[in-house]
Amino acid sequence: WEKLMKNDPEAFDILSKELSRQEEGIELIASENFVSAAVMEAMGSILTNKYAEGYPKKRYYGGCKHVDLAENLARERVKKLFDAKFANVQPHSGSQANMAAYLAVAKPGDTIMGMSLSHGGHLTHGSPVNFSGKLFNVISYGVDPVTEMIDYDVVEKLALENKPRIIIAGGSAYSRIIDFKRFREIADKVGAYLIVDMAHFAGLVAAGLYPNPVDFAHIVTSTTHKTLRGPRGGLILTNDEELAKAIDKSVFPGTQGGPLMHVILAKAVAFGEALKDDFKEYQQNIISNAKTLARELEERGLRIVSGGTDTHLFLVDLNPKGVTGKAAEKALERADITVNKNTIPKETRSPFVTSGIRIGTPAVTTRGMGRNEMGIIADLIVRILDSIEDEKGNLPQEVIEGVSREVHELTTRFPLYKDL
Ligand code: PLP
Repeated sequence: WEKLMKNDPEAFDILSKELSRQEEGIELIASENFVSAAVMEAMGSILTNKYAEGYPKKRYYGGCKHVDLAENLARERVKKLFDAKFANVQPHSGSQANMAAYLAVAKPGDTIMGMSLSHGGHLTHGSPVNFSGKLFNVISYGVDPVTEMIDYDVVEKLALENKPRIIIAGGSAYSRIIDFKRFREIADKVGAYLIVDMAHFAGLVAAGLYPNPVDFAHIVTSTTHKTLRGPRGGLILTNDEELAKAIDKSVFPGTQGGPLMHVILAKAVAFGEALKDDFKEYQQNIISNAKTLARELEERGLRIVSGGTDTHLFLVDLNPKGVTGKAAEKALERADITVNKNTIPKETRSPFVTSGIRIGTPAVTTRGMGRNEMGIIADLIVRILDSIEDEKGNLPQEVIEGVSREVHELTTRFPLYKDL
């Protein structure tokens, strides 16, 4: 970053501090990951200079012959990765992918049905503060209060009663494998489109460790930056040619302008990485780390929502420790452990306070951490939780210093971005 350092020391300083935070801390946010240096090179490239509204060979600008190759490379690789017939790699984000997918098959005022935010769905699955809740009539399903898993009979009953145009499966804080076959049967019964948002578990699907929703859904959307370990962005897949045409129109000109060609090249690089053999091992390690960390925390007195996880993430019920999600998030951050507060089923607190935290293992697994390190991390987390003194997450300075020293010792053993 020499040029940045010389030309804009203020921006350089921000970047350097964030690099240190990423290198020194333990990153447990389930939706985050560390991309490869190759992905970053593609993303930080001259492709950012190019306008390319339209699609390969059908652009509204000249000079697109090379970016056409980039977009085709991304499309071909992602189709291979998920065994899909059609792909759109232009969505700028997961939210944009969902917006384009919904508007490809529904119009404002139609009914959509998704998992509620407080039970693990995403904002774009019908939250009233999001475009999805403002444009559509929303019916939400949740998880069963006892099993804390989706009750498909309840989903079916709701669908039969409300006849939604779209049913959305997938979420941001649901740790169990979703039965897509059952979802499709329900959708078919009521004449709905099934859209699966695989943003969180796309990497697991790519590695064959989670059922492939492309086999069941009319449309599949995803982000590219979570378990899939690509640049920030979105994508849409389908096996239906007519839907593919509607999706393309809905992305451009429907909801976006010029595609981010530098990000699309970076997506191609990340899809190439995901097609390699070692990606499967990486995803297996993510899951085994999540299972181990959940068990280690349970053994130290915490409750894991639904009793465990099948994936890269899980929710921790903090009630046994008598602390809130807000206090836990703040206290852990003081010792350089990053998590996010999260509502849990049967939540009694506001979404700004919550009774839980969400934990994910994609980022620590990318660093190479394994079973032993999960035990150490569980220990560090519980030492912090047990020392929280108030709602602001304050705790004795000696605990912060002791735990953060051990956090730094651990992360030094698993370095990131050695060549930057
Ligand atoms: N869908 C799901 C399930 C998500 O978890 C997220 C992000 O967390 C999104 C969509 C939205 O992605 P983005 O933040 O890229 O808009």
